[in-house]
Amino acid sequence: MPTREPTDDPSIPVGSPVTFSGESASLRDSRNGQTAQVPDSKGTRVSAPEAADRVVVFDTTLRDGEQSPGASMNLGQKLQVAKALRDLGVDVIEAGFAAASPGDFESIQSIARQIEGPTICSLSRCSKGDIEASWGALKDAKKGRIHVFLATSPIHRDFKLKMAKEEIIRRAVEGVKLAREKCDDVEFSTEDAARTELEFLAEVVERVIEAGATTLNIPDTVGYALPQTYAETLGYLKKHVRGIDGVIMSVHCHNDLGLAVANSLAGVAVGARQVECTINGIGERAGNASLEEIVMAIKTRQDVLHVRTGVKTERLYPTSRLVSQVTGLHVQRNKAIVGQNAFAHEAGIHQHGMLTHRETYEIMRPEEVGFSRSSLVLGKHSGRHALKERLVALGYNLADAQLDKVFGEFKVLCDKKKEIYDADIEALVIHGQILEAGAHTWELLALSTTSGTGTLPAASIALQKNDGTRHQQAAAGDGPVDAVFKAIERITGITGKLRDYQIQSVTVGEDAQGEVVLELEHPTGIYRGRALSTDIIEGSARAYLDVVNRIALKQPTNGAGAVPVRELGTV
Ligand SMILES: [Zn+2]
Repeated sequence: MPTREPTDDPSIPVGSPVTFSGESASLRDSRNGQTAQVPDSKGTRVSAPEAADRVVVFDTTLRDGEQSPGASMNLGQKLQVAKALRDLGVDVIEAGFAAASPGDFESIQSIARQIEGPTICSLSRCSKGDIEASWGALKDAKKGRIHVFLATSPIHRDFKLKMAKEEIIRRAVEGVKLAREKCDDVEFSTEDAARTELEFLAEVVERVIEAGATTLNIPDTVGYALPQTYAETLGYLKKHVRGIDGVIMSVHCHNDLGLAVANSLAGVAVGARQVECTINGIGERAGNASLEEIVMAIKTRQDVLHVRTGVKTERLYPTSRLVSQVTGLHVQRNKAIVGQNAFAHEAGIHQHGMLTHRETYEIMRPEEVGFSRSSLVLGKHSGRHALKERLVALGYNLADAQLDKVFGEFKVLCDKKKEIYDADIEALVIHGQILEAGAHTWELLALSTTSGTGTLPAASIALQKNDGTRHQQAAAGDGPVDAVFKAIERITGITGKLRDYQIQSVTVGEDAQGEVVLELEHPTGIYRGRALSTDIIEGSARAYLDVVNRIALKQPTNGAGAVPVRELGTV
């Protein structure tokens, strides 16, 4: 099996397997003589060799993160996040689960075609259909990876898969072989590894390595592991599996016990050289390991961990902000690294210490993670360049045509509002259809409502479908907004239970724009929609349509009922 040495090339490991040893790498090869500044245990900056073992950062915000309730993203939003991840310097972007829905397939394909730099990856079950769907979406990528998975734990074998151990091994090997026929870069995940018998886990891992897997992921799918048990599992595999040193061992931890980051780092300490994580730690239930926390722990404590990543840490805060805006999942104020309070020092005693010697209370500098202390206010004298700089600082790297569009809308807004805040700019990008949404199934053509004392609230609405047809319906309701929702339901046939409905102003002042946010429960999952308008009824209609379009993206085209991704299984 061909191997190569760890290098500074951010594109590793792609195509061919890479040999990484788990030992302290700062003592190894320092061919290029470059050094990086890292703090030692006293907080003083010391030099560490660039050749410290490289940990591959595998971002799954667009796949596992998107499985967070209400976090589904449309195509344009996914592309925007993928660009931000590329600029952040992640090594692998897991762009989706190609077989899950045509919308997922389209997103992966667009990312594979447009995003250069990182390896683009698609998840697949161990089935011919899934693997072919993944490859179909990935084949135009400069660097593609097929990620196949199969559960190995007794509870999954007995109750979900109803397969004996031999059958699991046979399917896993077949899946990896099939994927390798299409692609040199194949990752295999033993779903629910943390609850699998060690001997059986080792057997599966050895067999899939023989079959050609180049990255071996050992997920704690349900967030059950403790740092020491997880390290023991990985250590056992390192010791007992033939061929494990010829592949990259990967960690993938869920945060059900709040231990996802701790477990991931425990895995790195025993030789894992790929970490799977998401921006802001978003993901199902309590989420995944948070990318920014792992990356900054590795950077800040390189004195202990002796590894490094290729992430440009000053892009962490902008990327976090972008993902939060796009998904509507807010970051808690006290969240490590990217929370609003992460670098705030308010107590007087701290301030005194900070003024005399910064490192008294600060183990990282805010600039290192791209945290901007001041929120710059723009106004009508601000030019295109100033707007562009602000957009980049907020995480939006727009193409020229998109920037022109935002600048046009910015100028219009400047006539209405004196001071333009970050939130206004973000609202322009998110709501201004700057991010191409891909094929919208439904578009609003016309809307009228009647309400008032003594009349029955009613709405009449006209929508256009993406096949060019015009559809019109009227409905009565408990109020004008309810009537609008009912009319949309009648036209689109998409119904669900409204779980949340909020109207809030985006910034301060009488001239503030209003944002409607709503959450709908549908058999395929929970969806959030948002719209910006000065008219709350029109805003509500647009937010509801936003949800309907997101649901439409997830509908299978084969006429079968929509299946929640959860039921397909996932790592
Ligand atoms: Zn997961």
